[in-house]
Amino acid sequence: MERPRWPTTLAVVTGLTAIYVAAGKLALRVAFLNPSASAVWPPTGIALASLLLIGFRAWPAVLIGAFLVNLTTAGNVATSLGIAAGNTLEAIAGAWLTRRFASGRDAFERPQDFQRFLVLAGFVSTAVSPTLGVTSLCLGGFTRWSDYGTVWLTWWLGDVGGALIVAPPLILWGSRPRPGWSRLQAVELGAVLLSLCLVGEIEFMGYLLPGFSRYPLTFLCIIPLLWAAFRFGPRETAAAGLVLLIIASWGTLRSRGPYGGFAPNASLLLLQAFMVVTVIVAMRLAAGVAERRRAHEALRLQAAELERSNAELEQFAHVASHDLQEPLRTVTNFVQLLAQRYRGRLDRDADDFIGYVVDGTTRMAQLIDDLLEFSRAGRTDRPMEPTDCRGVLEKALANLAVSIRESGAVVRHDGLPTVRGDPSQLTQLFQNLIGNAVKFRGPDRAEVQISAVRRSGEWLFLVRDNGIGIAPEYRERIFVIFQRLHGRNEYPGTGIGLAICKRIVTRHGGRIWVESQPGRGSTFCFTLPVAETPGAGASGVRLTGP
Ligand code: ADP
Repeated sequence: MERPRWPTTLAVVTGLTAIYVAAGKLALRVAFLNPSASAVWPPTGIALASLLLIGFRAWPAVLIGAFLVNLTTAGNVATSLGIAAGNTLEAIAGAWLTRRFASGRDAFERPQDFQRFLVLAGFVSTAVSPTLGVTSLCLGGFTRWSDYGTVWLTWWLGDVGGALIVAPPLILWGSRPRPGWSRLQAVELGAVLLSLCLVGEIEFMGYLLPGFSRYPLTFLCIIPLLWAAFRFGPRETAAAGLVLLIIASWGTLRSRGPYGGFAPNASLLLLQAFMVVTVIVAMRLAAGVAERRRAHEALRLQAAELERSNAELEQFAHVASHDLQEPLRTVTNFVQLLAQRYRGRLDRDADDFIGYVVDGTTRMAQLIDDLLEFSRAGRTDRPMEPTDCRGVLEKALANLAVSIRESGAVVRHDGLPTVRGDPSQLTQLFQNLIGNAVKFRGPDRAEVQISAVRRSGEWLFLVRDNGIGIAPEYRERIFVIFQRLHGRNEYPGTGIGLAICKRIVTRHGGRIWVESQPGRGSTFCFTLPVAETPGAGASGVRLTGP
């Protein structure tokens, strides 16, 4: 059974009324211009925070509190009611607008929300109370209509300060459990607080360094606030702003500091304007930093998740292709046996069908081999070591000896360097690129040239051919797995070779791309890291592009 809420509400309203009255009476002690209008008005912040934290049911506390404060200060029942109504409506409007347009109590976590809070709860809704309040006082004969403007401004600025400097720390510290700081962070926060108190003391009180307080050094106050914003968050920044307001008000009211020398109300108004601007800047920054930190964390989690799912997929591809090899081998063996034993003994159709199966299984075996190679190319457990590219190239050429000989291709190379890499993967890389250069040859005899140049901390390799070339629009696509530009009847292949190359180069921290024009050959370019031990050979040419 749900317990009735009214006893809790009653207790909350009573407690809140008491706090409101105490804060209001304290603030009205510095109401110099008019007994009912103070340039410092924390009750606005208390009311706004209460309505956002507790809900709209807290409004009677604001109404009763404001009524009591004013009835015991100046005016009569009617003016006190008018003022109290203004204070209450202002708090309701501020809380409603903040909830509707600025994410409620989360208004300080994102710059956009904070900006909306700033305008709506900070500057717009705070006009309600001075308008109703000063009008009530004028109507009741407690203030002259000619003073309307100055009293209104004092009242409004007091409320703005309450909404922007007092409400945020109350909302932020009241809405969630206390943040967990590490010991180091707690020490740093202590240092922020200490520097804030020091700057505040020196600038607004001047007991420590009496000569300094008259100099216009108030801009120094922004430093500890920005420190809190950058290193902590909106909660700590808001609290720092409130601490600074207390120190600065205390000093200014004792005619100390840069604003202490003016008439009492003017000095408080100046201080309030300074504080509001300073705190707005710090809070806006804190919201930006908090948002960035959250985005960074989300990205980090996403990257970790991506890495995990990638590894899973890779594992799956590896296991699947590995396990497929075995049954495929059986099928291939038996179908080849069938072909050997029964070719010509069955009818023509049967011979054709067996031929298709042999063809299909051979292709499938090639595909599985390539897929396995692709999944291996992404594995990072093989060590990187200084690798002489001449040895790697020789191995690749030996593996390609048959196709090179059959096609009559000519492969030349300049001196090649020693790089930091995985020898077997680099062999595969050269093999795939040279193999393609030979395979995709044009009408002329294939000529392949391999060279390397040192370029800003890495080696740039070029594998140039005089083959059929590639249209510019396909330059990216060809590195994607299974992407081929020709049918199998034109050129055999699985469309995995360049995807493997890309994986290998990426794993080595390099980049791979192609420069080509149809019919004018292709140059495959890739970069590899320089080995720590100085490499041998290679041309000393230095390039600047691409
Ligand atoms: P495959 O060689 O099995 O088709 P690759 O991934 O190695 O797969 O290459 C993808 C596509 O890129 C090829 O189908 C071909 O169209 C194009 N290609 C690759 N290398 C060259 C080259 N040296 N010259 C022209 N086209 C090439």
